Amino acid sequence: MDVAVVTVGDELLAGDTANTNATWLCTELTDRGVSVRRVITLPDVVGEIARVVNEYRAEYDAVVITGGLGPTHDDLTMEAVAAAFGQEVEHSQAAEDWLVEHGGYSADDLDPGTTGIPAGAEPLHNEVGVAPGCVIGDVYVLPGVPAEMKAMFADVADNFSGPERFVVQVPVDEPESHLVERFAELRETFDVDVGSYPGEHVRVKLSGTDREQVAAAEAWLRERVDLLEE
Ligand code: ATP
Ligand code: MG
Repeated sequence: MDVAVVTVGDELLAGDTANTNATWLCTELTDRGVSVRRVITLPDVVGEIARVVNEYRAEYDAVVITGGLGPTHDDLTMEAVAAAFGQEVEHSQAAEDWLVEHGGYSADDLDPGTTGIPAGAEPLHNEVGVAPGCVIGDVYVLPGVPAEMKAMFADVADNFSGPERFVVQVPVDEPESHLVERFAELRETFDVDVGSYPGEHVRVKLSGTDREQVAAAEAWLRERVDLLEE
């Protein structure tokens, strides 16, 4: 399953807020065997969000979008997703009923924009905050506040799956440039993906869907590099 992650918010682009939602979602999705093919951050602009949602929903099996829910002026994600589907945003009675029943709100307290979702979408309840999310087609609209986003993702997580992947890390005490030929041979010999991540030392990540191939590749590499003493 191929998925795109879309994070929305001018504050992300300005560097005011670290985009922890993107990283968290990538980890969760990858752990479920999903292949995350795109991560994009967009400004609070309806046309730009709508265009990207349309492009990505055609290209990928699902799109997860976070941020910009709720009734304030910069919360435009519902409008944009609705536009991408050629729909209007409309009041969701199911979302209001849930907030009244579980959130302790009276219908009159809720700002009118709070329960608006695209026509034809199913609301996703917000266990932690107020603004509902929604699912429409294969597009999942989640809040920006990390705790709210995580709780809501948990409710839909079972819709994201793919083949189990096996991952090992090998910490290497050699310069990355010295490893080029061994990486080439490793990739020719085994059916694994090889990632090389330099930092204070080089962390080599081997992953694949065949457990034995990954284990064999790890053994092969460990015999041929200077391992970092840990
Ligand atoms: P609410 O449901 O409360 O209205 P929201 O969906 O409107 O949430 P935003 O208004 O976009 O969310 O952002 C609310 C807060 O969540 C921001 O101030 C920011 O701190 C945080 N936030 C938004 N996007 C992200 C992100 N991608 N990663 C981490 N934090 C984020
Ligand atoms: Mg908001």
